Amino acid sequence: MKDFIKILQRFLPPYKSDLIMSFVYNLLAAVFGVFSFVMMQPVLEILFNDTKVIVTKVPWEASVDAIKHNFYYYTTLIKAEYGADSTLLFVGIVLLIAVLFKVTFTYFGSYHTVQVRNSVVRDIRTKIYDKIVNLPIPFFTEEKKGDIISRSTSDVQEVENSVMNSLDMFIKNPILIIVALVTMIIMSPQMTLFSFIILPVAGYIIGRIGKSLKKKSRLGQNKMGDLLSTIEETLSGLRIIKAFTAEEKVSAKFATENNDYRRIMNSLMRRRILAHPISEFLGTVVIVIVLWYGGRLILTGEGGMNGAGFIAYLVVFYSIINPAKAFSKALYSIQKGLAAMDRIDQILEAESTIVDKVNAKSISQFETAIEYRNVGFSYNGEKQVLKNINLKIPKGKTIALVGQSGSGKTTFVDLLPRFYDVIEGGIFVDGEDIRNCKITDLRNLMGNVNQESILFNDTIFGNIAFGVENATKEQVEAAAKIANAHDFITATEEGYYTNIGDRGGKLSGGQRQRLSIARAVLKNPPIMILDEATSALDTESERLVQDALDKLMRNRTSIVIAHRLSTIKNADLICVFHEGEIVERGKHDELIKLNGTYKKLNDMQML
Ligand code: ADP
Ligand code: MG
Repeated sequence: MKDFIKILQRFLPPYKSDLIMSFVYNLLAAVFGVFSFVMMQPVLEILFNDTKVIVTKVPWEASVDAIKHNFYYYTTLIKAEYGADSTLLFVGIVLLIAVLFKVTFTYFGSYHTVQVRNSVVRDIRTKIYDKIVNLPIPFFTEEKKGDIISRSTSDVQEVENSVMNSLDMFIKNPILIIVALVTMIIMSPQMTLFSFIILPVAGYIIGRIGKSLKKKSRLGQNKMGDLLSTIEETLSGLRIIKAFTAEEKVSAKFATENNDYRRIMNSLMRRRILAHPISEFLGTVVIVIVLWYGGRLILTGEGGMNGAGFIAYLVVFYSIINPAKAFSKALYSIQKGLAAMDRIDQILEAESTIVDKVNAKSISQFETAIEYRNVGFSYNGEKQVLKNINLKIPKGKTIALVGQSGSGKTTFVDLLPRFYDVIEGGIFVDGEDIRNCKITDLRNLMGNVNQESILFNDTIFGNIAFGVENATKEQVEAAAKIANAHDFITATEEGYYTNIGDRGGKLSGGQRQRLSIARAVLKNPPIMILDEATSALDTESERLVQDALDKLMRNRTSIVIAHRLSTIKNADLICVFHEGEIVERGKHDELIKLNGTYKKLNDMQML
């Protein structure tokens, strides 16, 4: 309950006015609702010819007594003038009007809670999304991605269904219950006091049954889980089971578990069907006791109530049962929602490890050099992925990284935009440790083109202009021309405004890659990072892409992870990676002469 209130405190404040409106409308609805039940009394009185005769009118005021008094005054008038059946019609019309008010106010009450509910769910989703976008890359390991998706979809759904559904219940039902109670006290304080001595006793007994059902049903679920995992285990181990001719053994084990499940379910279902007759019987016991007690009050004339009043009282009494049930159900379903909220909070409260320092430096330009000094890195703290890396990349030079897959090249370039932070040593841009720089400034210095071209479900224009605000049509076209993309773009149906579909699925690999290049050209950063940008392409599209890349690298500082000899040969320096270290460096001819790792890679045609 405490946690539930905490959630409400976190998410509800912006919607205070809606909540107040909903509260007011629900209160009005409850008042008119109870009023319509109370109308039972005059109807019965007319039918049994037992109406009160009131011949004087009192001034109208908002008190129960005045309203009651004048109501009887008018029924007396109408009855004297037009007879009993017209009076019945009059009472009926008053009843109709009361109900009309009630349903209208109920509608407006829920109208406002709907607004709160959907807004809160929207806010939670937005919060998660913003958090995801801002969390650093190391947070998103493979196993976590699915988890995050399930948290931001089904867990949010769960919160919506339970907590937010209950919101309506939590506003509406207490009001209904309190208004009915107050009415009952006004109608007969004695009866009400009496009823509320016996009701908790009955409630307690019914509650006990519910609890034992819950325990049993958890047992049943666990057993079902056992069954499923046995089946799964069997399917994956079928070969071994057969090889060891253990069919009978596993069948026997399964049969035992299956039978256990039957036993639990038998007992659960028997209890469940028992719950209904018990609560029905207890309910009747309560009613009989109330009937007996109330009847005595009326017969002795002690309670100040007549028979019709007593029946109306019972109707109001009865009207508490449904809201009370709904209320306790809501309490139960909140528990489920709270568990989901906990899982969501694990994302919302995850700490960003890669953030700007308090007085982080702005950098607007790249002037002299990038330098890796004694850099060491590990993803999990166990396996050292980069060891003792020292490399200086002067402005304007092109550095090629080569090495077997898994040797650490991608990791090396991921450290520069601080997708990950180094563990040992440091990376310096113009002599400044990148951990002291503003992250956005740092990343603005760099453009990326990777093996996988990452495109978004948007127009071609939108994809090229992705990282640049207010790019003009001319700028985008110019970038596309440099990237050898203009021709194929204009050949598409709507040119630059063609939507490329989910992840660019409508385009070929080479086309996608040229869009990525155009995006980098438009951003026009001083430093380019190309990670196997052509390795996923066939030779024909590779030629166009390679040409585009050459243009992209011109006049920039580039780090190129490449497998193509021509790119490597043009580089100012080649670094050969092996198991996280730079084992050789130099120009192509020098490295061949060295007759080491590079020569081996070359001979195996891995370049
Ligand atoms: P390359 O780009 O040279 O193929 P990588 O830098 O991608 O090599 O990988 C270097 C090593 O780090 C490999 O052993 C790889 O398995 C491991 N590695 C890469 N990315 C991750 C990651 N996100 N989490 C854990 N280990 C990783
Ligand atoms: Mg790689």
